[in-house]
Amino acid sequence: MTPLERTFCLVKPDGVQRGIVGEVLRRFESRGLKLVGLKMVHISRAIAEEYYAEHRGKPFFPGLVDYVTSGPAVAMLWEGENAVVVVRKTMGATDPAKAEPGTIRADFGLTISRNVVHGSDSIESANREAALFFKPDEILAYDRAHDAWIQG
Ligand code: UDP
Ligand code: MG
Repeated sequence: MTPLERTFCLVKPDGVQRGIVGEVLRRFESRGLKLVGLKMVHISRAIAEEYYAEHRGKPFFPGLVDYVTSGPAVAMLWEGENAVVVVRKTMGATDPAKAEPGTIRADFGLTISRNVVHGSDSIESANREAALFFKPDEILAYDRAHDAWIQG
């Protein structure tokens, strides 16, 4: 069996306002990923700047910080084989206009500055982002009766 990965995902404030939280959860659950962390957060500017530190100095950075702090968001941790890549592919390309139909960003977005969801781009990013939003005791380990039918 391929080792399990854990990845961080955020339904951004536009996704919460538009009532897409359940839809995002459903898509990841349906793929077989296991939800191991879930919380609603209103991200502060300080956390947003740390979360998106790699983009500091870019022209879109101030707007990105405004966007992600503009209202409540929903933070999730998903576990499964190849979870990082699977979540990124399920979300689609960063720009919804370029995302494949059937992905979350294509099905629910139009423009890059309101692209509904975030997903970690590597295991290292996932660990860093998870630590920004979840305490260790907020990440839950448990077995599912059907795991053997999902992970060979
Ligand atoms: N973003 C933007 N304009 C750009 C590039 C990115 O508003 O030209 C925003 C967008 O919300 C994106 C986030 O910045 O999701 C982080 O960008 P990144 O390149 O890391 O894309 P992601 O990893 O989210 O696909
Ligand atoms: Mg990114």
